[in-house]
Amino acid sequence: MKMTAQKLTIEKEVPVVGEYDVVVCGGGPAGFVAAIAAAREGAKTALIEQYGFLGGMATTGLVAPLSVFTYNNEKVIGGIPWEFIERLESMGGGYIEKPLGNVAFDPELYKLCVQRMVLEAGVALYMHSYLSGCVCENGTIRQVIIENKNGSEAIAGKTFIDCTGDGDLAHFAGVPMQPQNGAPLQPASTYFILAGVDTESPIIKEAMHHNKQGVNCHCLPIREKLLAMADKLDIPDFGGPWFCTTLHDGCVAVNMTRTAANACDNRDFTGAECRLREDVFRMAKILRDNFEEFRNSYVAAVSTQAGVRETRRIKGVHTITADEYVNAHRYDDSISRGAHPIDIHSSKGATQEATFLKQAAYVPYRALIAADYPNLLVAGRCLSADRRAFASLRVQASCMGTGQAAGVAAAQCAKADTAVQNADITRLVARLREMGAML
Ligand SMILES: Cc1cc2nc3c(=O)[nH]c(=O)nc-3n(C[C@H](O)[C@H](O)[C@H](O)COP(=O)(O)OP(=O)(O)OC[C@H]3O[C@@H](n4cnc5c(N)ncnc54)[C@H](O)[C@@H]3O)c2cc1C
Repeated sequence: MKMTAQKLTIEKEVPVVGEYDVVVCGGGPAGFVAAIAAAREGAKTALIEQYGFLGGMATTGLVAPLSVFTYNNEKVIGGIPWEFIERLESMGGGYIEKPLGNVAFDPELYKLCVQRMVLEAGVALYMHSYLSGCVCENGTIRQVIIENKNGSEAIAGKTFIDCTGDGDLAHFAGVPMQPQNGAPLQPASTYFILAGVDTESPIIKEAMHHNKQGVNCHCLPIREKLLAMADKLDIPDFGGPWFCTTLHDGCVAVNMTRTAANACDNRDFTGAECRLREDVFRMAKILRDNFEEFRNSYVAAVSTQAGVRETRRIKGVHTITADEYVNAHRYDDSISRGAHPIDIHSSKGATQEATFLKQAAYVPYRALIAADYPNLLVAGRCLSADRRAFASLRVQASCMGTGQAAGVAAAQCAKADTAVQNADITRLVARLREMGAML
């Protein structure tokens, strides 16, 4: 170990503990679907996840509902994502809202359902394993480095998929990222579950299902009263509020806290976690003290980590623009869809910009790959899109859709020993259609 005043240089031997066709980093909606898709395509597949359960924002962040699988009752995200939803529903852990295809869920059954599907597909799971770097030669990733109780370990692969949300693997490999151009990142928010809520009251019953096209599903009567009382009660910045059923009487998942933060800056995000935890309990008390529906409520759970809406996105071979997106431009290499409004939350104050789509949009394969990285795909939140197109594509059904495409593409490229830039698009799209993707 060498040490200078500012930096340490550490040399250490790291064992290579596995070799795979496809290595997926991050077990959120994009990652678990990508891993299942790759494994079902016959690839020897590993999935790396920092927590001891899967699901990403749905389970670590309690982010509900899962948006959106249909557009006006027409399914736009099919295949493995929809199979997951139907299985979750059959376990009593999901409720599909019509006509928008938002899905309310029980977070604990979500974790169990995902885990079963991943293990049944034969995926090798590395839980409690934090991706901390990679070995990359001229843009080709050879191994990823993970940290866990065994120490530092390396996992080798033919093709890698970055589903960390924050684009961690792409960042470590040196992939160029989208410029932020001075625009503020969307805020971080900590969800919490309130129990003891009067979920039979008309206001809460109406608010906790999200089933009206063209309407922002926040709880308007409570929002208006909160805004009127904001100065008097010194209410912190908030969004919505949105309430979502967790499928248990008396319980709602609450989305209302917000703070400006860059979740990819450790100190900044630490501060945000602490502010948001304080705000959860302040908000819970404000609801309890001022609204009859919440008079007997209490905080039953706070999300494992603050919810992150926006961080890094790669500069891909193609960047989806808002113009293409809202006009439902159909690409030669369309591999998935999106139907959620363009949904931009202000990092300060209580506002939000929501632009509803007139038709469901498309996602090209080229938004999942970068030019000079022959064995890397991304899926989910870190795909290549401008700020506005991304503000729709960031939702969970869309992330599952791109995960499915990336998983199949990675397996096909690994098998054919082909760079991801030379993927056989006709074959990829044909296979995705066969699986149920609505292209
Ligand atoms: C407050 C808020 C409200 C939202 N509202 C909605 C909504 O109503 N409907 C909706 O559908 N979506 C909503 N979203 C968006 C949605 O939750 C996310 O954009 C989506 O989950 C992103 O999916 P992903 O798979 O790309 O990343 P994530 O869900 O973030 O999953 C990434 C996974 O990778 C793991 N990981 C990350 N880094 C590492 C690492 N270095 N090593 C190992 N593992 C790692 C994480 O633990 C996680 O499991 C909301 C988000 C927020 C924050």
